[in-house]
Amino acid sequence: MPSKELELYLHIPFCVRKCDYCDFLSMPADEDLRRHYVDCLIEEIKQKAALCSEYRVTSVFFGGGTPSILPGVQIWELMEALQRNFKICEDAEVTVECNPGTLTRQKLIYYKMAGVNRLSIGLQSANNQELQRLGRIHTYEEFLDSFGQARAMGFKNINVDLMSALPGQKQEDWIDTLNKVLAVRPEHISAYSLMVEEGTPFYDQYGEDERRREQGEPPLYLPSEEMEREMYLITQELLRNKGYVRYEISNYTFPGRECRHNIGYWKLIPYLGLGLGSSSFLEEVRFSNTKNLKTYLSGENFSQEDCAYVFLDKRQRMEEFMFLGLRMMEGISRSVFQQMFGIKLEAVYGNVLEQLQQQGLLKQQEGRVALTEAGISVSNYVLSEFLLL
Ligand code: SF4
Repeated sequence: MPSKELELYLHIPFCVRKCDYCDFLSMPADEDLRRHYVDCLIEEIKQKAALCSEYRVTSVFFGGGTPSILPGVQIWELMEALQRNFKICEDAEVTVECNPGTLTRQKLIYYKMAGVNRLSIGLQSANNQELQRLGRIHTYEEFLDSFGQARAMGFKNINVDLMSALPGQKQEDWIDTLNKVLAVRPEHISAYSLMVEEGTPFYDQYGEDERRREQGEPPLYLPSEEMEREMYLITQELLRNKGYVRYEISNYTFPGRECRHNIGYWKLIPYLGLGLGSSSFLEEVRFSNTKNLKTYLSGENFSQEDCAYVFLDKRQRMEEFMFLGLRMMEGISRSVFQQMFGIKLEAVYGNVLEQLQQQGLLKQQEGRVALTEAGISVSNYVLSEFLLL
């Protein structure tokens, strides 16, 4: 096996219907369109594999959209194509993102046959009224059913996605969601705060409220910034009491179940994105596929020439190394920085490190630099300090 590590991401841009807060590249599609898309994806796999002959694949991630909207056999076909064209490690982490209401026993059987060993289930909330407000297609009971079926089929590595700071959400509602999820003991929990994104129905409804909140005025529907912070601290405490370790600002896991795909991304491991709008990072170059479905389905845009390229210079790569690496609780390694960029961390960021440490926002120990608890609560500010102007 080659020594260079690679991660694969396959984008499945289809959902049963669009959630009201969602600005991801996703849309509803009928069966024929989905089949056509999978055929194009298989063709793209064949064509792009040549770029990666010197890499071994350590993780495969089917993301979306809702990959579990596809018939199980299509996930199996895609994995077959990957196995035939890439050097996939025997112990590779293979994740499929699933939504309750789209998962069936038959699909889970195909996932097993395809070598899928990790599921990531989008629950967001265990409160059916909140789910309805978000425009989700499922109920909490359907999540329990999907989770139970996955366990029954022998899936021992499951992530559950949750979202806090929802409109009208109170502290006790969030605690109730956490407790309900903790009761089924998933190996991994991702807990993000709601972002009100432009161009979504939520933006029309709550955009003004978001602006009030940003300007320090009391919001009418969204929880205040203090409440959002309180929810974050509650999450951390409840999960820690149940044996979860926080390894990134918003990700918690049982020891040894960290998501390899996420860690690779934060550590700048090369990755190849396949499918509509997916981006790649190979040999210090970032490139991405078209976001236009019609163009993608024409199948004429899989060659390297048709990708949009961004060449990252050393300065940009150093910034990314800091932005992404500091999201992890273990922070970044001084020696890895020096190895990657041929210069000492102090020579580039000496003043910033000293200033942030004096403010109590960064800690430096055993050759590593990491955020403190105070730094996590103002992480956007801390990370922005690493921009090299
Ligand atoms: S299921 Fe996920 S990707 Fe699909 S519309 Fe909802 S939030 Fe967006």
